[in-house]
Amino acid sequence: MYDVVVVGAGPGGAVAGKRCAERGLRTLVLEKRRLPREKVCSGLVLGRLAGNLIAQEFGPIPEEIVLRHMDGIVLWMPGIGERRVAWPTPITWRKDLDYWMVQAAQATGAEVWDDALLRKITPSEAGSTLSLRRDGAEQDIEARCVIGADGAYSTVRRGMYPDEEFVTSAAYREWYPGSPHLDDGWVYVVFPMGEYRPNVWLCPKDDGFTFEGAGVKPVGGRVRALLRDAGWTETAPQWRDGCVSRAILFEHLEAGRFTPARGNILLVGDAAGFQFPISGEGIGTSLESALLAADAVVAHSGTGAAAEAYLAAIEPLLGTLRECYAEVAAVRAQTGEALLDAIAAAFLHSFEVG
Ligand SMILES: Cc1cc2nc3c(=O)[nH]c(=O)nc-3n(C[C@H](O)[C@H](O)[C@H](O)COP(=O)(O)OP(=O)(O)OC[C@H]3O[C@@H](n4cnc5c(N)ncnc54)[C@H](O)[C@@H]3O)c2cc1C
Repeated sequence: MYDVVVVGAGPGGAVAGKRCAERGLRTLVLEKRRLPREKVCSGLVLGRLAGNLIAQEFGPIPEEIVLRHMDGIVLWMPGIGERRVAWPTPITWRKDLDYWMVQAAQATGAEVWDDALLRKITPSEAGSTLSLRRDGAEQDIEARCVIGADGAYSTVRRGMYPDEEFVTSAAYREWYPGSPHLDDGWVYVVFPMGEYRPNVWLCPKDDGFTFEGAGVKPVGGRVRALLRDAGWTETAPQWRDGCVSRAILFEHLEAGRFTPARGNILLVGDAAGFQFPISGEGIGTSLESALLAADAVVAHSGTGAAAEAYLAAIEPLLGTLRECYAEVAAVRAQTGEALLDAIAAAFLHSFEVG
């Protein structure tokens, strides 16, 4: 019997596990993959919220994890222009960043099981029964509270809403050796259609760069042609991967068709659909929601009131996201230079949150 089982060992799971263990709860973090695990992500610690919460909860990011310190983001709309949003931003491989945070959770007393896939949650007298496949064997465990930090395709969320098919989007990533021959030290976001979506992110990683985003496949050829024009000698990608990147939940949440917590089960981060809509940044929102969920569980473990406390506590975060969604709706109404200005303003606003 655990006081709390946290499902997922990304940033949300790591910080929730750490906070609950620090406050004396018997805490287990489950991760379906072997740790350390890579995540399809630019690995940018982007904006004040993510930077501040990581520093506050884990301390400075060790330099051996930081691949580079970027100067900010260039928004490039070919044929229209570019805008620079200066914001010092460390870039990492998520495998290293997340594992560093998970190890901190372990050091405070959280148990961490990797290769432990949650398959099903069922209500039980004590709270929930979690059915797992761990190291190839089936196993059930009991938890008073569950924090679902299991990403955009959350099993916990699907257990809470078995009859709902929430829409998700997919992201794609490739890694090329060498340089894309753009301004070194800046992350490029390319808008090849002259519209806000789709966009392709180019991030230096090790001695090459990643080429990634949602909806990249149909426009990838166009962006590669732009890079060739800029001086890039095209090579084959050395590897590619992809993932379910986002669950479209905010509209459902606003309409009252989705609630990120019920009884003793609380959803955080991508599992709850909490990302900044303009950038898709979700490390900061994941950390913030996970801390609020952990505090609600600590205060109300075993009483059945954790969900209510969490839903009240996340209102300010939801208010911020609401503003950001309204800003994106306004962005979409623009074209040309005005569109680029509006995107730059929305990026800067999201960086300043926190
Ligand atoms: C292409 C791309 C680029 C991005 N770039 C950035 C960026 O640069 N900066 C940024 O802030 N955000 C970025 N994001 C968003 C960011 O990756 C997520 O918002 C963030 O990882 C959310 O953290 P989380 O802890 O909620 O979930 P995750 O990091 O997704 O962690 C969930 C964990 O749960 C595990 N899991 C899933 N199901 C189960 C199960 N059934 N049982 C056990 N374990 C399970 C998964 O293996 C995973 O380890 C990007 C996203 C994409 C797709």
